[in-house]
Amino acid sequence: MIEVNRYKCGYCGTCVAVCKFNAIDLVETWVDIDEQECRDCNTCVKVCPVGALEPA
Ligand code: SF4
Ligand code: SF4
Repeated sequence: MIEVNRYKCGYCGTCVAVCKFNAIDLVETWVDIDEQECRDCNTCVKVCPVGALEPA
């Protein structure tokens, strides 16, 4: 499972673009991670430019 630090996230959409499992969506004021779809590959964690994603 991945947690989003909403105070760091700048809604750039990079994590959404790299997720191969369509587990992340950018909604109006939130990055939404679908726990059913997420495979914990950590690709999004590695690419987030501000370190807003962390494995939980
Ligand atoms: S890559 Fe990081 S800063 Fe960009 S939308 Fe995703 S969590 Fe937010
Ligand atoms: S850990 Fe992998 S599968 Fe889960 S949301 Fe991030 S990129 Fe997608």
